[in-house]
Amino acid sequence: MDARLEAIRDTVLARNPGEGEFHQTVTEVFDSLGPVHDRHPEFLEGAVLERLCEPERQIIFRVPWTDDAGGFQINRGFRVEFNSALGPYKGGLRFHPSVNLGIIKFLGFEQIFKNALTGMPIGGGKGGSDFDPRGRSDAEIMRFCQSFMTELYRHIGEYTDVPAGDIGVGGREIGYLFGQYKRITNRYESGVLTGKGISWGGSLVRPEATGYGTVIFTEEMLKTRGQSFEGQRVVVSGSGNVAINAIAKAQALGATVVACSDSSGYIVDEAGIDVDLLRQIKEIERGRLKDYEARRSAVSYVEGGSVWDIDATVALPCATQNELDGDAAARLVRNGLLAVGEGANMPSTRDAVVVFQKAGILFGPGKAANAGGVATSALEMQQNASRDSWSFAHTEERLTEIMVGIHERCSATADEYGDPGNYVLGANISGFVKVADAMLAQGLI
Ligand code: GLU
Repeated sequence: MDARLEAIRDTVLARNPGEGEFHQTVTEVFDSLGPVHDRHPEFLEGAVLERLCEPERQIIFRVPWTDDAGGFQINRGFRVEFNSALGPYKGGLRFHPSVNLGIIKFLGFEQIFKNALTGMPIGGGKGGSDFDPRGRSDAEIMRFCQSFMTELYRHIGEYTDVPAGDIGVGGREIGYLFGQYKRITNRYESGVLTGKGISWGGSLVRPEATGYGTVIFTEEMLKTRGQSFEGQRVVVSGSGNVAINAIAKAQALGATVVACSDSSGYIVDEAGIDVDLLRQIKEIERGRLKDYEARRSAVSYVEGGSVWDIDATVALPCATQNELDGDAAARLVRNGLLAVGEGANMPSTRDAVVVFQKAGILFGPGKAANAGGVATSALEMQQNASRDSWSFAHTEERLTEIMVGIHERCSATADEYGDPGNYVLGANISGFVKVADAMLAQGLI
């Protein structure tokens, strides 16, 4: 890395001590940017990187709520409004006990580049809470969401900051959050949140979009080698919204998805995962993956362990950050892996990415491969702004166009910078240049 970039990176890391995931994403992006600064010295002169790494605003707040037993509970809420060069801050809310400021900053930083890659007018932000929804009743979830929004509402708005879902935040939570926003503001401001229910301002395809988009992006990568999903043996990690829809789309394109996981273990179903049964268990019953084994023949459930022990030609990590390490990557590579499409945000460790790239595996980083979710959120904002509601077919066509466009942009940028097929470089550079140009045009703010 260029000495000037190294000095800026070191200052950023030193200013944000103890935020391992944020350091990881900043380092990965800086590793790609050397050649950009040779061509665009104005970015260094304009201190674009220094500004980009410091969130425009960071909000931390107390979230008090009562549990069903009448006990008082306190959680911490976050919203990091990272960069608004391209549009209002946009990004999800994550409710998970692992959430802290460093995690939200890593996700927000990724979101800036991801959102730029979609080609839609959206800036980058992220938020959430260390609240653990697991085992909580519907009434507890509602009270928590209402309390969270009672503080958050003053910071967001259709032209300011537009949250959506992420881990632990789905349609139910967005409903409770939207209801509370409407009640406090007395405004039916549909465009303030995305991922809404279809009858009250949501968009068709939004629930499927992240998983579908990951598969569409991966299919585009496979095409560059004369391949497709047809006949591939796929392993997916996770069994939440992203994983389920990635499984559905991969199988619709002719692949067999043989395994998926949750935080307790994984299932292996050599006949191909029964998506309807998986949806029934995870989305309707809100149950555990273990329940799948008893309800279908020839399935094994492995308690604990790693789903990456199962061989695959295509791996779709759709669970969480740093879930696929260097050893797992090396094992997959030895056993016939062709491609990786990241449905989660930064699921591969830095070591794993190095292993994939050295082996010439097609590797689609999350900020490109999973951008279909936020892109469809931007389509939801468009529909809200025009008080319209599009058909499934039209919305899916737009999503496909956007994903194919992201693949083209990453691929063309990697070619332009002399490293064909390096989607990490392509995604980081093309996202960065777009945001950096806009920041310079808008002056020192
Ligand atoms: N949480 C998703 C992501 O990581 C979606 C964000 C959104 O729709 O705003 O991109």
